[in-house]
This record gives sequence, structure tokens and C-alpha cells, in this order.
Amino acid sequence: MADVKHSAGRQDSFAGLCREHNLKITPQRTAIYGLLKGCTDHPSADYVYRQIRQEFPNISFETVNRTLLTFAAIGLIAIVESTAGVRRFDPDMESHHHIHCIRCGTIIDFRHEGFDGIAVPESLSEKYSIIGKRVVLHVICPRCRQQEAAGMQPPG
Ligand SMILES: [Zn+2]
Ligand SMILES: [Zn+2]
Repeated sequence: MADVKHSAGRQDSFAGLCREHNLKITPQRTAIYGLLKGCTDHPSADYVYRQIRQEFPNISFETVNRTLLTFAAIGLIAIVESTAGVRRFDPDMESHHHIHCIRCGTIIDFRHEGFDGIAVPESLSEKYSIIGKRVVLHVICPRCRQQEAAGMQPPG
């Protein structure tokens, strides 16, 4: 039921998943996906829009946002937890975990086999179709800690 792994080959997963879901492979979609794959910092739709506009000046924010949500809906990318109501996107669909700074909102990936192996309690897996799990560490990052030590109020 809860088969998280979509396909073995990550290389052709973009074209494969698009075909599987009757999503036309347009230059815009290819560019948006390509941009995301180059990001390790869980970009927001706004960031993707500002980058992609340099290549496609006529693209609208709505189109970019809708494309990202579509990508998430077909399992190409993930929507991750966010601060301040800003949705962020994660192109890394392999099992990984997050370090989330509660001050500046930065989300950093890390891998840890021990966390990968955490079992979902039966009471939950009976009730829900589990499609993924992730450990999130809420932290104050070194930069924010430094700022606090220096007596400066970090933004937010
Ligand atoms: Zn921080
Ligand atoms: Zn991530």
C-alpha cells in the first residue's frame, strides 16, 4: 500500500513520472525541475519564480506555484514543513532528515540510517497510509546563536 519508492532510476524519473501522470514535458517544467534539483536549501515558490523568470521572462508566479504543487502531487518533489506560512519544496526524494533552525527558518538536510529505520507505531499505520517519514530537529543554528550572543535580534 504505502510504497514510497517510485522508480529505481532517479535519472529518468522526471520524464517517467510526467508521462505516468499525463503531464506534458514543457521547457518551463523542465527548467523548474532542473532548478530545483540544483537546490539543496529547500527553496520557496517565490525563490523559484525569481530564478526561472531570468530564463522565461513571461512566466507568472501562479504558473510556477502551480507547477511546484503539481510536481509534489505526482511525487516528483516534496513539500516540507515551513516557518511563517511559506511553503518550501524539497527535490530530494531519498530518505533524509531535516535540521530546522527555529530562528532563521533555514532547513538543512542530513542522512542518518538510524533515523531511517525508525518504525511507525502500528496504531498509526493502521489508521493512516504512511507515505513518508522524516525526523526534524528543531535547532538554533550556529549563525543565529552567534547573533544572539552578540546581542543582536535576528530577523523574525
Ligand atoms: Zn538560524
Ligand atoms: Zn530535505
